[in-house]
Amino acid sequence: MNKDIATPKRTKEILEKHGFSFKKSLGQNFLIDTNILRKIADAGDITKETSAIEIGPGIGALTEQLAKQAKSVTALEIDQRLLPILKETLSPYPHVNVIHQDVLEADLHSLIRDEIGEKEDMVVCANLPYYVTTPILLKLLEEKLPLRAIVVMIQKEVAERIAAKPGTKDYGSLSIACQYYAEAETVLTVPKTVFVPQPNVDSAVLRLRIRQEPPVKVKDEAFFFRLIRGSFRQRRKTLLNNLVQHFDAKENKASVESLCAEAGIDPKRRGETLSMEEFAVLSDTFFAKYG
Ligand code: SAM
Repeated sequence: MNKDIATPKRTKEILEKHGFSFKKSLGQNFLIDTNILRKIADAGDITKETSAIEIGPGIGALTEQLAKQAKSVTALEIDQRLLPILKETLSPYPHVNVIHQDVLEADLHSLIRDEIGEKEDMVVCANLPYYVTTPILLKLLEEKLPLRAIVVMIQKEVAERIAAKPGTKDYGSLSIACQYYAEAETVLTVPKTVFVPQPNVDSAVLRLRIRQEPPVKVKDEAFFFRLIRGSFRQRRKTLLNNLVQHFDAKENKASVESLCAEAGIDPKRRGETLSMEEFAVLSDTFFAKYG
């Protein structure tokens, strides 16, 4: 029986056999620690009833651990050079389906419908390419896919921003965008030494448990998210200054002030002090005039 793909020795053998050279531009930092990989899979509460979706299987290190626990694994890999390698490394796992696809271009609803089935217990598990972490996560969340959870290894600093609570230095529009769709928590921090090649930054495993319903109801979601981004335009500025700029209301500062008052929010506060509930009230109040 073969050793796990992710041992340093076997990874080296696989890479050398295929003459594979890493592409930094594709965020290729492969994991060489089976313990960490198992912990990632465990954080997804994967059982034989679970269909796992992986983004960026690389040479199959995480894919293999997912395959040992899951009913099926569907893996999307952008780099054509990895397909013959994956065919070989994952040959013991017939319930793994590797698709050559850029996840950002993928029609994920159709892929789930055609390849997996919408009614399955479904999780995304991945060691994400760091150069596109945020767009990938926002795509997975905003498209409202039928997922139970998303478990991803990402840059530690980004994980902290996503899971941050109001009033902390890391709290911002990304925290709210993600926490609107999911409960976020960091489950593990990971040193650089478990990757080849080693990245410049530390990493963390983030778990997003998808909510059935958002924690706040707003009149218009797109307006809500735009207002939040506007409120964090310049972190050191007050809500008033940021919103005046956001709504291009220099001549009309008093109206921005009175809408804040109507929402019961002091316009001298900074965006980072507002809870999601407060942003929801603010958004609905401003929507009446600026929506
Ligand atoms: N899962 C492997 C592991 O843990 O060792 C590799 C993880 S590596 C950080 C990221 C992987 O994502 C690479 O295999 C890379 O080619 C792939 N990738 C990069 N951009 C992608 C995209 N837009 N869509 C799909 N895969 C992508």
